[in-house]
Amino acid sequence: MKRVHVARHAPEAHVVKGFLESNGIAAVVRGDHLQGGWGELPVDLCSVWVTDDAQFERADALLVSFLRGDHAREFRDQNWRCPKCGENLEGQFTECWSCGARRPLKP
Ligand SMILES: [Zn+2]
Repeated sequence: MKRVHVARHAPEAHVVKGFLESNGIAAVVRGDHLQGGWGELPVDLCSVWVTDDAQFERADALLVSFLRGDHAREFRDQNWRCPKCGENLEGQFTECWSCGARRPLKP
């Protein structure tokens, strides 16, 4: 069992859990049952765990793109091409992940 995500609050943890399960990855939420009445809780107490270690890397990769989803949609129409190496990049990147060149300013 491996922790794949630390949530800011219980609803976020359950959204993440549901997302993973919709992708066929069994997940559990830990810590949310402690909320209420305990005062200040450590921020990492509500977390999502993948029960099958073999699926952890896939879960982690899916989650990264999932959590980035809103951000990526926002920049959907701003894809750009690296002037140095020609790589196609998504709008949320400010520099080329391939060669490190900075995104050119729009004219
Ligand atoms: Zn480049």
